[in-house]
Parts: sequence; structure tokens; C-alpha cells
Amino acid sequence: MENIEPKSLNFIEQIIEKDLSEGKNGGVVYTRFPPEPNGYLHIGHAKSICLNFGLGAKYHGRTNLRFDDTNPTKEEDEYVQSIMEDVRWLGFQWEGEPRYASDYFEQLYLWAEEMIQRGLAYVDDQTSEEISAQRGTPQKPGIFSPFRNRSVEENLDLFRRMKAGEFPDGSRVLRAKLDMASPNMQMRDPVMYRILHSSHHRTGNKWSIYPMYDYAHGQSDYLEGITHSICTLEFENHKPLYNWFLDQIADVNHVRPQQIEFARLNLSYTIMSKRKLLELVEKKIVSGWDDPRMPTISGLRRRGYTPESIRSFADRIGVAKRDNIIDVGLLEFSVRDHLNKVAPRVFAVLDPVKLTITNYPSGSSEWLEIENNPEDPQSGSRKLEFGPNLFIERDDFMENPPNKFFRLGPGREVRLKGAYIIKCEDFIKDENGVVVEILCTYDPTTKSGEGQSRKVKGTLHWVNADKAVDAEVRLYDRLFNDEDPAGHKDLDFLDFLNPDSLQILNNCKLEPTLQNANPEDKFQFQRLGYFSVDKNSSQDHLIFNRTVPLKDSWVKQSK
Ligand code: ATP
Ligand code: MG
Repeated sequence: MENIEPKSLNFIEQIIEKDLSEGKNGGVVYTRFPPEPNGYLHIGHAKSICLNFGLGAKYHGRTNLRFDDTNPTKEEDEYVQSIMEDVRWLGFQWEGEPRYASDYFEQLYLWAEEMIQRGLAYVDDQTSEEISAQRGTPQKPGIFSPFRNRSVEENLDLFRRMKAGEFPDGSRVLRAKLDMASPNMQMRDPVMYRILHSSHHRTGNKWSIYPMYDYAHGQSDYLEGITHSICTLEFENHKPLYNWFLDQIADVNHVRPQQIEFARLNLSYTIMSKRKLLELVEKKIVSGWDDPRMPTISGLRRRGYTPESIRSFADRIGVAKRDNIIDVGLLEFSVRDHLNKVAPRVFAVLDPVKLTITNYPSGSSEWLEIENNPEDPQSGSRKLEFGPNLFIERDDFMENPPNKFFRLGPGREVRLKGAYIIKCEDFIKDENGVVVEILCTYDPTTKSGEGQSRKVKGTLHWVNADKAVDAEVRLYDRLFNDEDPAGHKDLDFLDFLNPDSLQILNNCKLEPTLQNANPEDKFQFQRLGYFSVDKNSSQDHLIFNRTVPLKDSWVKQSK
């Protein structure tokens, strides 16, 4: 059911509504999502995407996609492409063409020259180690650089030569001439430009100097007319600097962006730093950025998550001002909740054992009509062929079952879903004592849906052995077995890898309707969970990924 109660406004919506009511920014709301193209997007970015694009849509505004591509050494076009694909897949469309901080390199450079001319920036010839050693501590003021009082002419000349590529990497920087005694360390003559002789994914070898994030970000917001520049809490103490840089260039008649910080998403049992995710990929601990165990958007997609489930997750967790940790179970709940409504239910036997109905007329069969999804009246029904040779799950049979085992055992009865009540008469073992066949009789008067009244406790899923299709099924579990794998001081996050995060089953038997399933199709395998067809699946080799089990097994374990 749709939630029809109006939700109370989150703190960012409150700020925006106040701005709108005061007529600020001409009544316009303009946000942006500003990823650095140095990795694939993860579920934390999804929160930021839903927030920025969601606000743009809610207030009839606009939202830009802007690549913060100021560090050519780590950025690649592959990441640009994947980011665009992920944002679109989540269901959002940015305003016009994607933007790039590198589009503004020329303007940023001109503003930097202006700042030099106004005595607000200087070239420092010290190494980054020397500069950071002079920064002081929050309690102790920093020390002036010996190059702080260079003349405007000398600064301009050096900066132009930095741009022209005359000096090696790391030999000089441009710094803002700000306040070495500020209690805010960010204000102590921050670096604005560094020398990097590195080819850029868009500007090639044109530039030998690149602007720092703090300088580029706010000015880019300004150039795009962004009204509300939403970022995560770690940028709170960068805000005075963000505003100071704007003060140097802002025109009173131009929209001035306002930085607003919110708490980043932290998820239990998950790491979210792109650097660490890259390590998992490079060390081949996972199969790639879109390995279904990765918290990346492409990994979640391949795992079987839907855009709707990720958006509703973002909605459920809301927007907070303080850091917190969200239980990954809530993400799993969101996808279960959505797939329960939309995924057709089918029969699949993951660990098959043969079951033969000895009193079924041999050589004959019949078609049974089976409902696709009782949660979705539109989903209709399908026909499955029933006969004497079946497969059931191996663990649905026990040779010596306890009383409470409501499945199959010698002399016991169960219903085969959508079919008949059967009784186990005997079973056959191989020379190793492994059960290889279960022999049953069926009661022809108990056909499902024909008003018969006999009831039994257990209902099992099954597939017809003569018609079943083969498949590979991959069962995924959490990649880490610790709630906060990156949060241990003396231990590496890789020490907490869950050795059982992937289990591959090669001998699964599926109902024949699944023969034509296409990549990303989603199903509920009855009694087992939700499964999605892998991107590498084909009709010759079907591959399914388990998205989530039907119930949260981790909750059960801890009870
Ligand atoms: P990471 O720390 O994973 O490397 P990042 O902050 O360096 O991420 P960016 O590409 O700079 O990644 O992030 C783009 C946007 O996404 C930024 O506005 C950032 O604040 C936001 N973002 C990143 N991680 C999260 C998160 N865990 N929760 C919410 N927003 C996030
Ligand atoms: Mg960042």
C-alpha cells in the first residue's frame, strides 16, 4: 500500500521551503550530484543521488550531474560511463549534458590570476611535507611560508610558468593567502593549485596544473547556478573556505550556492570507501566492480536489486544531521518487499533428489494450472506438466525425521504444491548410503483446487524430472562477517572477509518456463528466496543469482 500520510519535512526540505517562501534565488531550486570519476558508485552515493535528484523533482527544480574531475591520476572514462549508467538506472535524468569541473578549468585559472593580482594568493616553492609541517595544530597557529610575501609580479610569473609546464610535479603550489592562525585548519593558506604532468581523461595534456577540490567545487557550483550544494558532514569544516572562495568572485546579482551537510550513509557489514572497493577488485577478491557481493550500484543491480527498492530504502533511512549506522538488513528488507510484489513465483530445486510416484499411470502426464503471484492479481497463472518422475529438495526428506519435521519421511504425507498429496512408501540408497530415490504413491482424489478437503501439514515444491531445465545458481551472503570491517584500528578490513560469501550450485533443476529467462529477470523460487538472472546467463547455460533468501537468516541466527 502507498503511504498516503504526508511525511514531515526533513531538515534540508525545511531550509529549501524557507528559502522559497522568502523568494530567495528567484524561487528556483537547483541541485547537483558531483561524483569524482575514480570508481564505481556505491549505495552511499545512491543515497546522495536520491536526495539531490529527489529535491530537484519535488521542488520543480533541476539537478546537474557534474563530474568532479580535478585529479587526473585516478580518473578514467570507464568510471564516467558507469556513473551515468547507474544514475539513469536508478531512474533519474540530469539537466542537459553532464557537466565536468574540467569544463571550468579556464575560468578557474583566470579567477586564480585575479586573486594573485589582488594579493590573495601566492606561489609557494616548498614541498608538501614542509607545508604541512608549518600548518600548526588547532591549538597552535601555523607558521608563515617564507614565500608568502612574494610580489604580485613574481607570483603571476611563476603561476604562468607552472601552467606552461616549466616545473616538475610537486615543486610548487599556488596557495590562498588567508589566515595561518585560524582555528579552522582549512583556512590556513590552503593549496589552490598543484603541478601534475598527467594526462587528463578529457583535457589530455593541455594542463600541467590542476585545481584542488576545495577551490574547484564551490566555484563550479557558482558557475552552474546551483542554489543548494548538498554534501556529507566531513565537509562541514570546509564551509568557511567554500564561502571565502565565493566571496572573492561572487556577483550580488548572481545566485550564490549554499552548502548544506548531511550524514553519509554507513551500512553494517559493508565497506563503502572507493579506495577499499578498488582494492577488492584489484586483488581479485571479487570478480569485478559489479560482483553481486559488492555494495556498488552495479553489483546490487546484478544481484537482483531493483531501482524501486533502492529508492525506497533511501526514503526509509531519511536524511540525518548526525552520523549513524544503518542495519544492512533494512536494505535487504527493501528489496524483499518490492520483489514480493513484482517477482513471479516459480519452482526451482537447488539440491535435487529423485522422487518417483509409483502408482501414477506410467507414460502419462497432465497439465496443472498454477498461480504466478498471489500478491499480484494481474500476474495470472501458468501451466506446468505433472508426471510420475519428479525432483524435490534433498533436505525435504529425512530417513528418521523428528516429530516436528513436516516434510517427507518414511510413511509420511505431504502435498506437492499445486498438485496432489503423496505418501512416502520407500527410498533407495546408493553404495555410500546416500539417498538417491524416494518412492511415493499419490492420492488421485486430492488434486489442488478441486474442492477436496483432506489436509496435510507440509507443502513441498517440485519439478518434473522429464521436463526440468538445468541451471547454475549462485548463493551470495555478506562479504564481511563483521559489522564494521573497516572500523578496527590494528586490523585490516580484509581480515573480516566471510569465507562463505559465495556458494555455486551446478546441478539445479528448474521448471521449464524458465528456459527463456533473460538477464535481470527476477523470480521468487518458492520457499527459497528471490533470484535474478545473471548478465552472463544464456539459454545454453542458465545462471541465477540469489538476491536474498525469503527471510532474514541473520536475524534468525542471533535469536
Ligand atoms: P568514497 O568516500 O566512497 O570514496 P567520495 O565521497 O570520495 O566517496 P565522491 O565521488 O566524491 O565520493 O562522492 C560524490 C557525492 O556522493 C558526494 O557529494 C558525496 O558527499 C556523496 N557520498 C559519498 N559517499 C556517500 C555516503 N556514504 N553516503 C551519502 N553520500 C555519499
Ligand atoms: Mg569525495
